[in-house]
This record gives sequence, structure tokens and C-alpha cells, in this order.
Amino acid sequence: MKELSHFLNGAYVKGSSGRFADVFNPATGETQAQCPMASVDETTQAIADAAAAQPAWAATNPQKRARVMMAMVGLMNRDMDKLAEALSREHGKTIPDAKGDLQRGLEVIEYCIGAPQMLKGEYTDDAGPGIDMYSMRQPLGVVGSIMPFNFPAMMPLWHVGPALACGNAVVLKPSERDPSVPLMLAELFVEAGLPAGVFQVVNGDKEAVDTILDSDIIQGVSFVGSTPIAQYIYSRATATGKRAQCFGGAKNHMIIMPDADIDQAADALIGAGFGAAGERCMAISVAVPVGEETADRLIEALVPRVEKLRVAPYTDGDDVDYGPVVTRDAKERILGLINSGVEQGAKLVVDNRDFSLQGYENGFFVGPHLFDNVTTDMDIYTKEIFGPVLSVVRAPTYEAALGMAMDHEYGNGTAIYTRDGDTARDFAHRINIGMVGINVPIPVPLAYHTFGGWKKSVFGDLNQHGPDSFKFYTRTKTVTSRWPSGIKEGGEFNFKAMD
Ligand code: NAD
Repeated sequence: MKELSHFLNGAYVKGSSGRFADVFNPATGETQAQCPMASVDETTQAIADAAAAQPAWAATNPQKRARVMMAMVGLMNRDMDKLAEALSREHGKTIPDAKGDLQRGLEVIEYCIGAPQMLKGEYTDDAGPGIDMYSMRQPLGVVGSIMPFNFPAMMPLWHVGPALACGNAVVLKPSERDPSVPLMLAELFVEAGLPAGVFQVVNGDKEAVDTILDSDIIQGVSFVGSTPIAQYIYSRATATGKRAQCFGGAKNHMIIMPDADIDQAADALIGAGFGAAGERCMAISVAVPVGEETADRLIEALVPRVEKLRVAPYTDGDDVDYGPVVTRDAKERILGLINSGVEQGAKLVVDNRDFSLQGYENGFFVGPHLFDNVTTDMDIYTKEIFGPVLSVVRAPTYEAALGMAMDHEYGNGTAIYTRDGDTARDFAHRINIGMVGINVPIPVPLAYHTFGGWKKSVFGDLNQHGPDSFKFYTRTKTVTSRWPSGIKEGGEFNFKAMD
């Protein structure tokens, strides 16, 4: 059995706790590797070593730090195929999806090449008599990053890139489900010129996470994952005075107006609802057609499309729509929620509960499911399913559809399909959700904007990537200065002249 490592002080290091988590091959259900679970001592040492390495990195000028980012972009492109294969093998997503995961992470590293510009600070000349005032952005020190399984490249890169570009050292705790790509990225950063110890990868579970949260050395914590854990991490990190940004779960609604192009909306829902097996925080899991006629036309367009989806391992070629979900537990949880939908009265229009793939009977595959007549009190509506399940909730009016999305506890992303500019503008303006698509199903902002939800999809201030990330990973210091020249008399300071 392959035993994975941590990546500490520039090298792979075997775990010493004796505790491991299984890393599965989701397509076959077999355990393909053992991931070490760091002890308190191992995590504490990794943090201490990061603290020792950080001052020299902070003293490296921003342009030189940016050159490491530039080299990293080249190395990731060089190794793209290898990285994508490793990612798909542990996560289960298709190779094009794995490359998308890497590409969206890479774009944030490209953005970080602009670190000298982002860190320039502000200056006021002659703020008072002989007085200048300037603000600088300084790194926090050592920061911790705790990441989810569903984007094992993109999510770490969104946090590690800006944190490093700002001069911090990072202790990353990747998901124990798919830790190989984060380890490979750490190795590539060293090849790109990052000094050893500045980027530490500690594999583990709650024990490693709590050690990061309670450490006096760690100054900031970023987390991405489910809402209950996001809330826990935020409370525990901020209780000890750390800066924290914690991104949680989602339930993204797409509103389909009667004037929408139904074929376009149905195509969009297939990609946004079922792509990556629905294991995306920006997946559309709820479609809200406005009016019975719109709903009937939408269901009619969706059914053949859902039935046509090809579910298979990533090794089965480029026409695979999506692969298995990440674990057997995830599969059982998703099937449990689908059963609850049926029991609570929703109409299961496409039912694949008995889905099984020949040759992969033990894999974690879940066939595509489409529900109609879902109501807002059902578990399949209130809970994040994080699987290939699309719920159609019929709304009588635009106001009812808008209110539904606004009343849901999550507020990550949303979309509206319409040909009417007034409606689209009203929706974008009034909706209490962080990322909005107008005839765009998955409105993921690009690297130079910021990514983040509202409501229970986030705890803390400031978004991921874009200018917010440079704010999160730095502290502002403002200096007010006056020099003695011009206020000296007879070699002595004339303090009166300073008033
Ligand atoms: P998760 O919450 O189970 O795990 C996330 C991380 O927290 C992992 O590293 C895990 O080891 C750690 N963790 C889990 N339980 C813990 C505990 N009790 N104490 C301390 N640490 C703990 O999430 P996941 O299943 O890996 O990821 C899927 C979730 O992430 C979904 O809810 C999805 O919506 C969300 N997500 C959100 C965004 C966003 O930007 N809002 C992006 C991607 C994923």
C-alpha cells in the first residue's frame, strides 16, 4: 500500500503518528494510499519551522517573490497532464474538470505576479507642516490554510498563492481525501525558488486542524469546506485573536423566467447541476422556473438531457460527463437524501437509484437524478446535497422565486435566465447572494475579482483571491513622520515649532 507523506522544510517527510486515513480510488472503491494524520507534535514542529523560515521570505523583496510565482506558472503548465491525472485518480472528476481545477488555481498564481503593485502602499506628502504619512502592507507571519476535497488544486492555490506573495509562511492542511496534488504543488513551489519551510503541507484531521487553530504562532486562518466546520473554525480561530476567513456550503438557485431561452437554460443546468458529480460549491442544485408553463417546458427539455449523461471513470475518455463521488459515505448520504425527497413527496422524474457500472460495481458512482415539484420544506431543498441531483421548485411569480433564493440560509451563487434587462438588473440588485450570473450558470469570478458568498456561506470578512486576498494576508501599518530639518534652532529641537 502506498504511504503518502507530509511536505516539510522542502522535502517529503513520512508521518510519525502511526495514524492514517484511507485515500480511495473512487472509481473502484479500493483504498489506493494511506495518508498520514499528523499529531499535535508534528503539527507544532511544522508551524515552528515555518516561523523560522518566514522572516527571510518576508525580507525578500516583492518582485523576487513575484518571480517565484512566475516560475510556478511555468512549472504547473509543464506538469499539467501529470497533475491532472493525479487529481482525477484521487478525486474521481474527469480530466477536463481536473485541468479546470488546476487552471483556475493557476490563474490566481498569475494574479500574484502583480504582488509588487498590490503591496505598494499609500503615501501622503505634507499631511501637516513637514509631516508625511504613509501606509504599508506587511505580512501577518505564519498563516494556516484548511482546505476541502472538492477542488484539491484550486482551493489551496487561491490561498497559498496570495499568502506567499505577501511574504507569509503557510501551513496547509489539505483534505485527507485527495492530498497528493497539494503535495506535488508544494514540491513545485520549491523548484520555482520558494525557500524551504515557507510552505509546509501537514496532512491530518481534527488533531492537526485544532493545533493550527490554537497555535500562538499562527496569525491568520483560511478555511474552505462545509458550513458547520466553517463556523467551528471561525469561532475557535477568532477566540484566540486570529484573523479568519471561513467559506462554507451552498445551495445555488437558478431562476428561469418565462421569456428565457429554455434550451439554453436546460443546457446550462446540465453542466452546472451535474458537472463534477455536483461536488462544486457553485453547482446549481435548485432550478426555479417561473410559471407552470415555463416549468413544464423546462422539465421536458431537461429529462432527455439528464438521461443522456454519461457517468464513468475519468479513464473512459473525453466524453464522460462526470465520474464517481469522493467516498462511499458521500454516496450513501446522497442516496439517503434522494430517498428522503421521494418520502417527503417530491416527484423523482429521473430515477437512477439502482445505478451500477459494469466492472466498477464497488465504485462510488451515483447516477443523475432530477426532481420536480420540490417544496421548500423538504430536506432535498434545505440541505446541501453535494451530488448529481437537481431539484425543480416551481414558483408562481418572479417575486416568489426571488424571495425563495433570498430566504435560503446559503448565499454563495445564483443565476437568472431571462431576455429582459429590467428583470435581470432588478435581480442582480436585490438578491442577497455573493455571486450572480445573468444567463451564466456558474458565475465564478476571475482571479482579479474576488470570490465569496453571503449568509451562511461565509464567516469572516474579505473574499478569496483578487484585491481582498492581499488585504487578508497583510496588516496595514501607517507611519506619520516628521524630520528635524527646518524645525531646528541653534542645534536644538524647537518642539514649539512642531505644534
Ligand atoms: P469538510 O468541511 O468536511 O472538510 C473541510 C476541511 O475541514 C478538511 O480539510 C477536513 O479535514 C477538515 N475538517 C473536517 N471536519 C473537521 C473537524 N471536525 N474539525 C476540524 N477540521 C475538520 O468539507 P469537504 O467535504 O472537504 O468539502 C465540501 C464542502 O466545501 C461543501 O460544503 C462545499 O460547498 C464547500 N466548499 C465551499 C467553497 C466556497 O468557496 N464557499 C468552495 C469549495 C467547497
